[in-house]
Amino acid sequence: MTPVIARTREELAAARARLRGTVAFVPTMGALHAGHRSLIRRARELGDAVVVSIFVNPLQFGPNEDLDRYPRTFDDDVAMCAAEGVDLVWAPTPEVMYPVDPQVRLSSGRMGAIVEGAARPGHFDGVLTVVMKLFHQVRPDVAVFGAKDAQQLALVRRMVADLDVPVRIEAVPTVREPDGLALSSRNRYLSDAERATARHLSRALRAGAERVADGPAAVLEAARAVLDEATRADPPLHVDYLVLVDPATFEEVGRDHVGEAVLAVAGKVGTTHLIDNTPLRFGPRES
Ligand code: AMP
Repeated sequence: MTPVIARTREELAAARARLRGTVAFVPTMGALHAGHRSLIRRARELGDAVVVSIFVNPLQFGPNEDLDRYPRTFDDDVAMCAAEGVDLVWAPTPEVMYPVDPQVRLSSGRMGAIVEGAARPGHFDGVLTVVMKLFHQVRPDVAVFGAKDAQQLALVRRMVADLDVPVRIEAVPTVREPDGLALSSRNRYLSDAERATARHLSRALRAGAERVADGPAAVLEAARAVLDEATRADPPLHVDYLVLVDPATFEEVGRDHVGEAVLAVAGKVGTTHLIDNTPLRFGPRES
């Protein structure tokens, strides 16, 4: 089945009006891979109809980021959507999405200014602004996001709660390569040598997760040791952060933390910015 492809608001409105039942929505920036496929499959389970958006959102890229070279593989993306039974692909151009420079934007607050947001000012404001616009355009009942972008997921949940947005948010676990590397549209920038260095991100997370019974400090220490190795690799990893945070607020947890946490890491290999994370649960420890 070939999905309907809408490129203008009018085409979207007409196609949306024809969808029946529960509408499940997967927002993406295209260059679809097996991680996106997993979101689409979850959406298929949740909805009678599935809408996928493909839009590389200029608002969430900083001036020195990769907006111009971000991979665009529209025909392949539509083929994947067709194979997965997607009903509607919403693919606006930047001019359709932003006919004028938007004056009114969402603010992601403190939560958008820490961890990933600290090095990317305005990034999460841009993400939330486009997600809200997409929600208004598509009017889904449920929207599916990847745990790969854990801070984005937390912020979207927070936006929905803070602003009473009538959309249910569903999360899907991170899909990985057999060697552990989290799938990302940006992986296609990596040379073989860079990829070997990039593998240290997921290795660090696994090393940390193995120490969960020993508490937050041990987790961070074990993960840090793997990242230190990667900073000495050729090419080296430039670590942006390694943090253990509360999954809902992204504030760092203390040494005595009990309960859920996210171990999150980010770094640069060559010119490619990569992020990864893993959920952890700390049980009570004997002191
Ligand atoms: P993007 O196209 O990178 O903006 O991602 C679109 C959606 O796919 C977001 O909700 C991401 O969190 C999700 N996603 C990206 N990579 C993965 C992955 N490896 N596993 C699961 N979800 C992913």
